Amino acid sequence: MKAPKLTYHRAGTLEQAQALAAQEGAGAGGKFMAGGQSLMPMMNLRLVNCDHVIDIGGIAALRETRWVGERLFLGAGVTHAMVEDGRVEDPAQGYLRHVAAGIAYRSVRNRGTIGGSLAHADPAADWPTALRALDAVAVIRGAGGEREMPLAGFQIGLMETALAEGEILLGVLLPQLSVTARWSYQKFCHKVGEFAHAIGAVVIDPAKGIANAVLGAAADTPLRLPQVSQQLANGLVAADVDGPAFMRLLEQDIAAGTPFEPSSYDFHVHKTIIKRAVAEALKK
Ligand SMILES: Cc1cc2nc3c(=O)[nH]c(=O)nc-3n(C[C@H](O)[C@H](O)[C@H](O)COP(=O)(O)OP(=O)(O)OC[C@H]3O[C@@H](n4cnc5c(N)ncnc54)[C@H](O)[C@@H]3O)c2cc1C
Repeated sequence: MKAPKLTYHRAGTLEQAQALAAQEGAGAGGKFMAGGQSLMPMMNLRLVNCDHVIDIGGIAALRETRWVGERLFLGAGVTHAMVEDGRVEDPAQGYLRHVAAGIAYRSVRNRGTIGGSLAHADPAADWPTALRALDAVAVIRGAGGEREMPLAGFQIGLMETALAEGEILLGVLLPQLSVTARWSYQKFCHKVGEFAHAIGAVVIDPAKGIANAVLGAAADTPLRLPQVSQQLANGLVAADVDGPAFMRLLEQDIAAGTPFEPSSYDFHVHKTIIKRAVAEALKK
């Protein structure tokens, strides 16, 4: 299928993009387009309808990276391939490169952006879960100026974010992990290159106060497992992961945050992927 008839606009600056959004109406009337890797398929399938597309892919400011104090600002327009190739810094000890390299296949990674992935807010997408585990913070620009919002509150539902009409996601602020930080990012896909059926993201960095086990593709939004994360903060060791106490907490967390019956295939897959991620992180 082909996308419905629409008017294409190309913004060269953030100011132009915002002016176009105000003029053509973001939301139902107009949509920003970054890499087009999610928007175009959605339009072709008539799952998204809009009269105007505002292409923000050429805005240089959205591809910037810079240090802001101890955090790295990564522009929303940075592509998955730029991260995979090391063309931007990875402040997370190789975690970002690992995640980027596992997204779809190279032609999608060449165009798809971090900001597009976060704004699209697909529960099975990689960056929302991966960056949630890193305690990343979204930087958002609207008519009233810029604001920051932890990713924990950014994705509010299935393909739904806290972005207000006309707001642009400028990028994310990422902590620099310590050299002693440990992480693991595990995906289970039925076929190579497709969206994940289950994602387990674990980041442990006591020096930075980070201890997160996050499950992706299991609920409408990335699910931080509270009891498992607390165990990581308390100094869980690899030998504990197969024990009944840890398994009980893991099962309770998944049961509380997902719709799956404990006896179901999905529950088992999600439990396995998180267990695998925790075990791998703790072995590092
Ligand atoms: C075949 C295929 C397989 C894929 N597999 C995976 C996968 O395994 N894992 C995965 O994570 N992703 C996967 N994707 C999605 C891909 O990663 C997309 O690139 C990404 O989800 C969206 O990025 P984009 O830059 O293309 O955004 P676009 O498609 O241009 O935009 C997506 C949405 O975000 C909004 N948007 C974009 N940028 C901004 C911004 N800066 N501010 C505000 N709103 C914005 C747009 O208005 C639109 O609603 C796949 C895509 C395809 C086509």
